[in-house]
This record gives sequence, C-alpha cells and structure tokens, in this order.
Amino acid sequence: MSRVYNFSAGPAVLPEEVLATARDEMLEYGSSGMSVMEMSHRSKDFTDILDCAEADLRELMDIPSNYKVLFLQGGGNTQFAMVPMNLMKNKVADYILTGQWSKKAAKEAEIYGKVNIIASSQDKTFSYIPDLSDLPVSEDADYVYICQNNTIYGTTIWNLPNTKGKDLVSDISSMFLSQPMDVKKYGILWGGVQKNVGPAGVTIVIIREDLIREDVLPFTPTMLKYKTHADHGSLYNTPPCYNIYICGLVFKWLKEMGGLAEMQKRNEKKASLLYKFLDDSRLFKGTVEKKDRSLMNVPFVTGNEELDKKFISQASEAGFKNLKGHRTVGGMRASIYNAMPYEGVEKLVEFMSDFEKENA
Ligand SMILES: *Cc1c(COP(=O)(O)O)cnc(C)c1O
Repeated sequence: MSRVYNFSAGPAVLPEEVLATARDEMLEYGSSGMSVMEMSHRSKDFTDILDCAEADLRELMDIPSNYKVLFLQGGGNTQFAMVPMNLMKNKVADYILTGQWSKKAAKEAEIYGKVNIIASSQDKTFSYIPDLSDLPVSEDADYVYICQNNTIYGTTIWNLPNTKGKDLVSDISSMFLSQPMDVKKYGILWGGVQKNVGPAGVTIVIIREDLIREDVLPFTPTMLKYKTHADHGSLYNTPPCYNIYICGLVFKWLKEMGGLAEMQKRNEKKASLLYKFLDDSRLFKGTVEKKDRSLMNVPFVTGNEELDKKFISQASEAGFKNLKGHRTVGGMRASIYNAMPYEGVEKLVEFMSDFEKENA
C-alpha cells in the first residue's frame, strides 16, 4: 500500500485511522453479523450510530440545545434552494458575495424571491473579504447569507458581518470542524461533509429551532422542508447510513485528537508553514489578501502558466496529488484539511523549495 499526500479540495483526505476502523468493521459491525451498509436504518445498531454521531458533534461544536442537527442529502447545492424555500417569509434576502459558492447560492435564491447583494469582492476576483461591519442590511430581509470559507479562492470571513439583527446563514462546508465556532451567532450553519468531515453524500445542517417552520414557500417539496427532517430525527426516509457512520468515526477521531481547539492549533501551524514559505518565495506567491487567508485552502501561482503546469505534473509524480487550482482560477491550490498531517505540508514545502531552486 502506498498512500499519497492528497491535497484535493473535496472529496478530500480522511484520517487514516478512520479508514482503518472502517476496514476492520467492513464485514461485521460489532456483533451484528453484517456491514453498516447492509443494516436497516431503523435497526438499533444504526440508530445508535446516528444518535452517537449527533451527540459527538454537539459536544465537539458545543451546540446549544435550541439548535437541531440534521443529516441530509443533496449536497451543498440543495441547501442553496432549501435555505430560501424555508426562510423566505418576506421573499427578500441579503447575500454577501465572496466567491463562486455564494454567487451560486444567490442565483438559486433569485428563483424564490428578491436577492440583494449587500457586499461583494467580485471586483478583484474574490481575492479579499469586503468590510462587513456596517452593511446596508435590508429592513425586510429574511436572513443574511455568507459562505464563510471560500474553497476556490482561499479566503475566510474571520469577522462575521453585522447583520443588524437579521439571522445569519453560513455555508461552512470547507471549514466544518476545523476550529471552534460560536453556534449561537448563527441562525443556520450548514456544510457538505465531503470537504473536511467525511465522504460525499451527507450535508449537515445546524439550525435554530424557531427557523424550522411550517409556513415555508407553498410549493416546497416535503423532502426539502427542514421540518420534515427535524420532526423525524433525520430518519424521515432512508438516510445515507454508511456515510453517516464514517462521519461518526471522524467525530470520534476529532475527540481523541483533543477537539476543535486543538484542531485549530494544528491547522494554524500547517497553514503558517505554507504561507510563510509563499511569502518568502522568489517563485511562488499566494493570491489573496493576507488578512483574509483561509487555514484550509491555500491557492498560489508562479505567475507563469507553463511553470504552473510543470509544477503540478512534477508534484503529482512525487506523490503530492490534486494540487491543480480550480478550473475557474487556474494556478495551484493546496487544501490542507484536518486529516492532512503536518508532515504532508512540510514535505510539500520542501518539494516547492527544490522546484524553486531549479526554476526561479
Ligand atoms: C463544495 C462546496 C459546495 C458545493 O457542494 P456540493 O455538495 O458539491 O453541492 C458549496 N459550498 C462550498 C463552500 C463548497 O466548498
């Protein structure tokens, strides 16, 4: 077996310990005589897995008791629709555009109501986060929407917007569980797990109870109402059982590692190693404003497309995989999620340093 250093933005690297446990339990989970994949979602074994996953997530994120945790399907793109369908009472919402994912979310919301763009960094290809301290929040806005970590551009909203009393909805897909977050500052926090938490197929929604409403937009399908899933403990229909089980193993791994404060420390250490190298490099440079840098996704360029290509191809041969930047921005991007060990970043930096000596 030879595992590579996988810098993919998602689906992405998972903790090796988790994969090993999944392997050991593949043919028989506990003394059930079957794989988790083969179990009824109503069985005691599976409902225990689900309950335990929720309890561990609540503990990790310190989720207050007036918030529900939902394990859903349909990925991030389905949340782009579910949020307005469930929350647009006045049919007005304010969106902050800091990248492709918030842009896509705003475009989807336009199907259901009026969308006001109250801040944007599109003027400089989303390479920074605008000042969000005093925005023209709409008086009748049902919520203010952000994408908190911009997977493609490599920026993070470090200071939450002043929403002037409106509920904040945040897409945290690519920073989920990377650091502690104050859940009560949000109305909804949601994330597709395939970036930093688990295998594709699960979207976790953390929602304050008063936002789980019956009076959603009239044509909202049963499956797209938060209430349906909240009322049935994420078991209204068959959930993605196996993927939830893997998420549960990741939660246990995170607890063993010391929880989210410890993950933040590790993530800061990894990211600062790479950013320091980029800041000192004669060849490579980061592409976003320093104050807005993400701990999870680190885009960089040489300034020469041919050299970028050469780097990506030589890095891949050397076992550093998926360093190609997003198709819309080019260059390189190293996603250094929770499961990427410090050693992986260290080795990448060594490799970049050697490449720089040969090519600068
Ligand atoms: C990947 C990603 C999405 C889209 O997720 P899908 O599950 O592919 O629909 C949305 N938001 C962010 C921040 C992402 O990184």
